[in-house]
Amino acid sequence: MLRLTDIKLPLDHQDTDLTQAILDKLGCSAAQLGPVSVFKRGFDARNKFDIQLIYTLDIEVDDQQALLAKFDNDPHVRLAPDTRYKFVGHAPEALNERPVVIGLGPCGLFAGLLLAQMGFKPIILERGKEVRERTKDTFGFWRKKPLNTESNVQFGEGGAGTFSDGKLYSQVKDRKHYGRKVLSEFVDAGAPDEIMYVSKPHIGTFKLVAMVERMRAQIIELGGEIRFSTRVDNVHIENGQLTGLSLSTGEHLPCRHAVLAVGHSARDTFKMLYERNVYIEAKPFSVGFRIEHEQSMIDECRFGPNAGHPILGAADYKLVHHCKNGRAVYSFCMCPGGTVVAAASEEGRVVTNGMSQYSRHERNANSAIVVGIEPEKDFPGHPLAGIDLQRKLEEQAYALGGSNYDAPAQLIGDFLTGKASSELGEVKPSYTPGVKLTDLSNVLPDYAISAIREAIPAFDKQIKGFAKADGLLTGVETRTSSPISIKRGADFQSVNVNGLYPAGEGAGYAGGILSAGIDGIKVAEAVALSLLGDNK
Ligand code: FAD
Repeated sequence: MLRLTDIKLPLDHQDTDLTQAILDKLGCSAAQLGPVSVFKRGFDARNKFDIQLIYTLDIEVDDQQALLAKFDNDPHVRLAPDTRYKFVGHAPEALNERPVVIGLGPCGLFAGLLLAQMGFKPIILERGKEVRERTKDTFGFWRKKPLNTESNVQFGEGGAGTFSDGKLYSQVKDRKHYGRKVLSEFVDAGAPDEIMYVSKPHIGTFKLVAMVERMRAQIIELGGEIRFSTRVDNVHIENGQLTGLSLSTGEHLPCRHAVLAVGHSARDTFKMLYERNVYIEAKPFSVGFRIEHEQSMIDECRFGPNAGHPILGAADYKLVHHCKNGRAVYSFCMCPGGTVVAAASEEGRVVTNGMSQYSRHERNANSAIVVGIEPEKDFPGHPLAGIDLQRKLEEQAYALGGSNYDAPAQLIGDFLTGKASSELGEVKPSYTPGVKLTDLSNVLPDYAISAIREAIPAFDKQIKGFAKADGLLTGVETRTSSPISIKRGADFQSVNVNGLYPAGEGAGYAGGILSAGIDGIKVAEAVALSLLGDNK
């Protein structure tokens, strides 16, 4: 099979145009051409009046070798690589030990699924509830019911990305094509086929909920076991080897191989690990606000007369500004046609994030606008100091919002001129439980406020209307990534505890659903190889 890259066609082309483009490129006849499949489809909207679709195609063709020779110097005609996933091994009939996975977010889900598919019958421990029960608790909190600190946007089956935009792309290097394995498992679990080939796939919240359930069913069918409402409260370590786990159920679980995939909000677990001397370092993360505009404005600016085209969908953006004070401000986790969500997991604290449905049909576009911060400069002195800073900012937001989980919000125009807001404009806030209009200028450190004040007008030069006075800022955004890194070695085990496999976003090895899933696969392989070695 040949892979052709960089085949460009206008937005509204016919299927026959695609075939013709292949024939033109290769200089061959229609009779020579076999089946064609789209491997990737992106678009180039730099000229919004002439948006181009860009294809990567896999094709069967007669006389492949002659064509490869003819295009020897053309990087856009190559043999298609084999992207099928191959298991590193399979468990023996009589297992000496069952591996444990702590946390059932995307990382734990894929670690658990892969271990189950390899026959290792993992035991998965998740502090939150199964996804339907969790949905009730989370949506209940958004409708002003009490926060359940063990069942919310951060905690429960499916992990942090369950109530999300479900963006499924990542910047990670993926030479072994693990990303394809993640996407194909998602398709088997009910995701639309298009996630395999569109350049920026997303699936939205409700589809994710059903997919997570199907993946759970597969793990159980393969002999895995999932225990909900079961938090790991302690790790037992003897002579540098993990020997067991204490669970919130009161049970002691002997265990020599555990994937630690607890996400970035397991602050109590991080503290416990630190106290057990598991090696942890502070790492950079970002803080800021959620910004909301009308989606129609973003669509118009990015796609002009093509706004609303079904292939393009709701427009996104990605922005970066390097400020005079040395800080970088950037957009993060942009959710086209979505809503801002209350993402708290601790009482007395407010934190924002964003989500959408597959249709991305809500009125507003939202995105985090955040400032990068670093341990040495901004929260020095202790590996867990970033958590203290996050908590402080989230507490300030809670107080400013009226101490009832409403979030503090301010119109962009007022924020830029330093005036408290008192009345909404055209852009209506999507955050529930609700927002309180106020002055956000003291809720983040001064350097962050001045950086964001400088960045928003700069972003307006790229997206006209971005600094529009009645756009809305809601605070605070503090959980952009983990504030710590739990260091692991080349064998994926903690640098000072054998058998403990720090993984996913919480340990600092992923950022987003896809990369967390990929990391889950890598760690499952490492656990399998270790168990197979132990079994020899
Ligand atoms: P998590 O998903 O955080 O999962 C960790 C799991 O561990 C949780 O279920 C938790 O309950 C459990 N746990 C924690 N401590 C313990 C313990 N002691 N014992 C047992 N279980 C424990 N990313 C994208 O790529 N695209 C998006 O569109 C997107 N949108 C997002 C929207 C929202 C609202 C949020 C909050 C996040 C979003 N993200 C998105 C980020 C993405 O969700 C995370 O990067 C990803 O979920 C990280 O996966 P993980 O498995 O490493 O950790």
